[in-house]
Amino acid sequence: MARALADKGWQVDVFDQATSPAAGASGVPIGVLSCHVSVDDNPMSKLTREGLLKVRTFAEQHLVKGQDWLDCGVLERRLDGHTKKKIWQPIERDSVWHGWVQTPTDLQLAQAGLSEINAHEQLWQAPGAWIKPAPLIKALLNHPSVHFHGGQCLQAKEMQALGYPAVVLALGAHTSDFLAELSDAPELPLVPVAGQISWGLHDAEQAKLFPPFAVNGYGGFVSHVPTPQGLAWYSGATFHRGQANTVVTALDHASNFEKLEQLLPQAAQALRSKWQTADSLGGWAGVRCTSVNRVPIARALDAVKLPDWYVLTALGSRGLTLAMQCAEQLAEQINNAHC
Ligand SMILES: Cc1cc2nc3c(=O)[nH]c(=O)nc-3n(C[C@H](O)[C@H](O)[C@H](O)COP(=O)(O)OP(=O)(O)OC[C@H]3O[C@@H](n4cnc5c(N)ncnc54)[C@H](O)[C@@H]3O)c2cc1C
Repeated sequence: MARALADKGWQVDVFDQATSPAAGASGVPIGVLSCHVSVDDNPMSKLTREGLLKVRTFAEQHLVKGQDWLDCGVLERRLDGHTKKKIWQPIERDSVWHGWVQTPTDLQLAQAGLSEINAHEQLWQAPGAWIKPAPLIKALLNHPSVHFHGGQCLQAKEMQALGYPAVVLALGAHTSDFLAELSDAPELPLVPVAGQISWGLHDAEQAKLFPPFAVNGYGGFVSHVPTPQGLAWYSGATFHRGQANTVVTALDHASNFEKLEQLLPQAAQALRSKWQTADSLGGWAGVRCTSVNRVPIARALDAVKLPDWYVLTALGSRGLTLAMQCAEQLAEQINNAHC
């Protein structure tokens, strides 16, 4: 949001209760960028296509490919819960999905250890990618008109007193708590969704058993990711709707493993012993913020009661894909209202 406003000529102060950027849900060590594919091409699908293009273009220009992000493509398994499979028809040239989605090749399925399954029940998203939020957010904030102030846990009334010409609340799962302090603030239909990912290091030999691209559809899996400690794999995440705790638990690790067994049986088999050794298994837990209809909220808060206050939240489990596009749209709205 800060970058979108700065690019339009605003001076932006970012106040964060955390001491450094990429806290909250954006502290997730890695995220998958992919489209929400729907047969009726619903508004969320369109938004994810726009969002994916936007973040990829920024990443191409400002991040190190292979280190901070990778345009490796995403294999989406059409697993719904445990049993339901969705058949996807080949994409016609005049479809909006042409160039975005296709049936995976035999080679891609073999690389995922999935040669036995029906290719038409899966999707290959060629523009998909993985990205590390920390370098992305650092690069976004690296603008002469953006001023980051860490360790600033603001209250709504304090914020009002500061007298900024425009205020954007981008507080993720904390948005409702922040607004609760203001008697005239509208109630937003927000729901916290806690989640945990499991991760660990792998060697080059093990890497041969993992696909060289990201996989999602029932939890997700990314491997071959360079970290200071070596190559890493990431698996998950769990979903606890209505919960806001950030404690890493053995139960959630087990749940991530069960999902991986269905998503990528070969990778799960290769990692089974790691999952049983607490020392070699890492975990990270955070809280997503979603709206009741799962659509992001990027708009004026209440033009009459709180003029010049805006909100960008409810980015859900695709926030890394959506954030820049939603911010761009809101920055446009703010600019139009003020210039
Ligand atoms: C386990 C997990 C896995 C995920 N995987 C993916 C993925 O694969 N792909 C994808 O696209 N997305 C993924 N997401 C979602 C994505 O991480 C989020 O949608 C996105 O990071 C939300 O960003 P945000 O800025 O809205 O909220 P946050 O990143 O939560 O930021 C909110 C900020 O507000 C600050 N704050 C709160 N209250 C105050 C206050 N009173 N004063 C000052 N500062 C305050 C916090 O410190 C924080 O920095 C995942 C999320 C989780 C939890």
